[in-house]
Amino acid sequence: MAETRIGFIGLGIMGGPMAMNLLRAGFPLTVYNRTRNKETSLVAEGAVAADSPAATADASDVVITMLPDTPDVESVYFGVDGVFNRVRPGHLLIDMSTVSPAIARKIHQAAVERGADSLDAPVSGGDVGAKAGTLSIMVGGSVDAFERARPIFQAMGKNIVHVGDAGAGQVTKACNQIVVALTIEAVGEALVLAKKSGVDPSRVRQALLGGFAQSRVLDVHGQRALEGRFEPGFRIRLHRKDLTIALEAAQQLEVSVPVTAMVHDMMNSVLAQGWGEQDHSILIYELARRANIDIS
Ligand code: NAP
Repeated sequence: MAETRIGFIGLGIMGGPMAMNLLRAGFPLTVYNRTRNKETSLVAEGAVAADSPAATADASDVVITMLPDTPDVESVYFGVDGVFNRVRPGHLLIDMSTVSPAIARKIHQAAVERGADSLDAPVSGGDVGAKAGTLSIMVGGSVDAFERARPIFQAMGKNIVHVGDAGAGQVTKACNQIVVALTIEAVGEALVLAKKSGVDPSRVRQALLGGFAQSRVLDVHGQRALEGRFEPGFRIRLHRKDLTIALEAAQQLEVSVPVTAMVHDMMNSVLAQGWGEQDHSILIYELARRANIDIS
């Protein structure tokens, strides 16, 4: 299986280390990133740099994309010099970005029309999971395509779940992002209330970690906030994008998601402060600001 030639487009915080893990697993790799110097470390380890998404597809059996947002995915697949200029029968296209279920279904339809196949396979686990090869991968598409991609996913992740047809992976990721965002908000409200009450928030975190309120968010982001470390990680601008996807789906389906809407609004406020490129745990800092305290 290691002979499968992979093309990887989008070498940012997540895509860079994911591509590196594929290279280290022995897959021949072609890479492309808009800002070209992000390809350097991968080329030094044996990857080949292509000049465009189309050239990346040409050189590969499987194309993987890891891009910021839905318009980026749209342009990389369907734009000038995009992937679909060179898609041929047998190609497998795997979009691992967090984007709308609608674009996942559009890529799938276009792929199938050309005798190719696609999977939407967004991830959870952050930059730490990307580097360690321990991402959770939630996959939409056919069972055949999923089985074909399994060895590729195993080089990047651990909890790899086929959830349903095209678009199902992105629906799952939207659900994931609701839980993570609302948990950050809850952890933030708790730590800010503790501090304002004159109780040491680091002791509160320690106490809560042993009980039913325990979570990875309390553990990792609680600690980050207490140390005042908000370098990304996961940029809050991207998390707001994910809640926008969830809110659009909820609106279309007439599902009430009141707290998601509220946290989305909080994120607007964070972006208005000029903190969009900071880690999403900065939501806790914003709550502290509103309470007129310093949480770290
Ligand atoms: P990122 O650091 O911004 O990386 C995105 C990369 O895509 C950048 O290197 C960017 O290049 C490149 N790119 C953008 N448009 C392109 C184009 N048209 N052609 C080629 N390359 C292009 O973002 P990230 O944090 O890795 O996130 C990627 C995706 O994973 C997002 O959908 C995000 O929501 C999701 N995600 C992120 C995390 C996390 O913890 N970071 C966790 C789970 C899921 P430039 O250098 O030119 O901008």
